[in-house]
Amino acid sequence: MYQVLLFYKYIDVDDPQALAERVRALSTELSLTGRVIVAHEGINGTLEGTLENTEDFVKQFFLDERFSDVQVKRSAGEGKSFPSLKVKVRKEIVGTGFTEAEANPRVKTAPKISPEELRSWYKQGKEFVVVDMRNDYEFASGRFKNSVEPGIAASRYLPLALEKLAPLKDKKILTVCTGGIRCEKMAPYLMHNGFSDVQQLDGGIHSYMEKYPGEDFEGTLFTFDRRKTMHFGGNRKIVGVCYLCSARSESYADCAQPSCHKLFIACDACRSADGSVYCSESCRVTHAAAQVQV
Ligand SMILES: [Zn+2]
Ligand SMILES: [Zn+2]
Repeated sequence: MYQVLLFYKYIDVDDPQALAERVRALSTELSLTGRVIVAHEGINGTLEGTLENTEDFVKQFFLDERFSDVQVKRSAGEGKSFPSLKVKVRKEIVGTGFTEAEANPRVKTAPKISPEELRSWYKQGKEFVVVDMRNDYEFASGRFKNSVEPGIAASRYLPLALEKLAPLKDKKILTVCTGGIRCEKMAPYLMHNGFSDVQQLDGGIHSYMEKYPGEDFEGTLFTFDRRKTMHFGGNRKIVGVCYLCSARSESYADCAQPSCHKLFIACDACRSADGSVYCSESCRVTHAAAQVQV
């Protein structure tokens, strides 16, 4: 039985290289695969391994009291969600490009509400707007009821969505993302830009789905690994639609044109027999021409 761990923490890290080495050594010893990013601002990781080894990782890594309060999210793995182990030191643990004046979760972030609280908001019919901070292709396969999509291809493009979100400046906003890490910066970024009532969902969509599978969040949760999507059971409905023909589907594809790599939902009928599919006619034509030249 395999398990995937998702965890992060914004915290001052004096020596990111040393922390990365420790994570690499421990993960290697436990035969874990996945991706971990370490920076002066903290750590962000997704790791997969056997149930026993992943739990060992949690025990040993979180002995370090700086990380003892980290919320670890767990989901079922397949044993091959990642091709290898990559532990990297970067400038940010999520690439936003925001300055520290715009958003610095180590100093200030938006207030958090728990999944329980959000559940009660839905039940009471409270007036609020969910702003989904994930990328546009993630939103395609699943989202909270009544949520607003900034429509960005990556976190660093949030500044381009401010105009679209402007009508929400005085509304009660709840930001959400997969595990909570993106909201830690994107919610304060909205506050910095004049949004008056912004809160973030503690533990993100992942924690909500674990507690309330099939409730309020409709569809599947996109993952940045080979699983592509996941869910925790419950009363599920498919909300995704094929990018090409609009049929209901939640199956992701990479455009088969090697230099395009657009990620989108494609139904079986729109794919070739081998499962491959192009995002557009121009990608298909370009690729066919390149193959003739070879
Ligand atoms: Zn289709
Ligand atoms: Zn394409």
